[in-house]
Amino acid sequence: MTLRLRLSLWYGTLCALALSVVAVVGYSVSVREQYLALDRLLVVSGRIVENGIRTYGRSYALETDTLGSTKDGVVMVMRSYSPKGELMYMSPSDPGLPHGHPDAPLRAPAPPAYQKVLPLRFFQSSVVTPKNSAFGTLVVDDQRWRRYVIRAIRKGRTVGYVETLSPLTRLDAAALNMARLLAQLVLFSVLAVLLIGWWVAGAALRPVARLIDAARAISQSHDLTSRVQTTGNRDELGRLAVTFNDMLGSLQAAWKSQQRFVGDASHELRAPLTVMRGNLELLRRHPHLPEADRGEMLGEIERETSRMTRLVEDLLLLARSDAGATLQRLDVPLRDVALEALRDARQLSAHHVFELWAADELYTVQGDKDRLKQLLLILLDNAVKYSPAGSTITVELLRSPAQTVLLVRDQGSGIPAADLPHVFERFYRADPARQRDSGGAGLGLSIAQWIADQLDARLEVSETGPGGTTFSLAFDVPETVGNHLPQPAQD
Ligand code: ADP
Repeated sequence: MTLRLRLSLWYGTLCALALSVVAVVGYSVSVREQYLALDRLLVVSGRIVENGIRTYGRSYALETDTLGSTKDGVVMVMRSYSPKGELMYMSPSDPGLPHGHPDAPLRAPAPPAYQKVLPLRFFQSSVVTPKNSAFGTLVVDDQRWRRYVIRAIRKGRTVGYVETLSPLTRLDAAALNMARLLAQLVLFSVLAVLLIGWWVAGAALRPVARLIDAARAISQSHDLTSRVQTTGNRDELGRLAVTFNDMLGSLQAAWKSQQRFVGDASHELRAPLTVMRGNLELLRRHPHLPEADRGEMLGEIERETSRMTRLVEDLLLLARSDAGATLQRLDVPLRDVALEALRDARQLSAHHVFELWAADELYTVQGDKDRLKQLLLILLDNAVKYSPAGSTITVELLRSPAQTVLLVRDQGSGIPAADLPHVFERFYRADPARQRDSGGAGLGLSIAQWIADQLDARLEVSETGPGGTTFSLAFDVPETVGNHLPQPAQD
């Protein structure tokens, strides 16, 4: 079922419910009041006649025909009976209605007259009848007559009965007509609301239909550059279109960066493969090369193999990071990690001086020890690569109540200002020609950045210039811990 149809049906159902309630309440109240008004008239008229009989032994009201026939028919009939129940007098309006013993209704009073046309008990109420009087119903030729009987009592003795009658034909017919009219009105209104709802829902959902068409066209053409037409309205649908376009934008960016990543990765992998293939071909074509040349070629193949292994490992790690891999969070003593990383870094270069500056206190952070060491080694490896032999590389640990900071400082020539915003990008190398020899593919800092992000730490170039570069890795100290720790370390 379409949303448009569902909305229209909802409108229709709600409208049908609301109108039905209004119609039922309106019908019940108005019909009940008309029947009760008739009952009241019968009571009042009966009391007048009864009063006459009790006071004078006869009633003039019986003889007058003020409530007699009108052009619509008889309005009221009055009759009086002897104490034994014999018919004594009747008003001239009596069309010859049958009569029985008048105390029948007194023994078994009839329910309110509207019950036949208003079956709902909830709306029922009736006229209070005085003592020794009751309502009854008379059916003559399929026509109902409302009947009210009073037993006239003087000095404790029954002196007669008074009966007032009025036909219910007109009221019954009016109630039936009203019920029919209301039902038709409700039906007609619901149909109208259904049609209007269908039209309104269609108009309201038109932008959604446009969005669906656009999305379908994009998914068929795979063209992420196309955009949905926006109306400029700030309503929900306007915002949906803008959000949809934003989503297309980020998909496009992700798609582009994915393509760039694959392109860069294949490019990086091609270089060592070319070197290896060249050397292998030479070795195959000249099996009797001097031992020294063979050794050099095999050495180069070995170097390129390990370069490629490193590259593939880095690529795998980045692919995992893209897939949403997370790092574990355990207490890691940063000082121990720094010491281990420095020990490994000394293997990288015997021509640099490595130092660790740290006050003798715990620098515990939350993280993954191996990944933290990897991050540190990336920074140390870069420091080795981009600073001259004989210079000093320093790892420094600092602590304030709010932060634990690790600095890696070298005495290289610094990062050019133009390259600074890009060094954390994948495959970015400030000087590719020079740096290919250094073995880097431009992935180190992006991996370091991912590790830092995962551990909620901030990795940035805090200082760079002709005197060297300093990378800083800052961890926020959780408040509960920070409040109890000693003041910053000073070296
Ligand atoms: P690479 O594998 O090439 O070292 P990185 O992502 O680690 O890739 O670094 C990106 C670029 O940032 C490097 O190519 C280099 O130009 C620059 N860079 C990184 N660290 C330093 C540093 N300590 N001194 C100078 N330049 C640096």
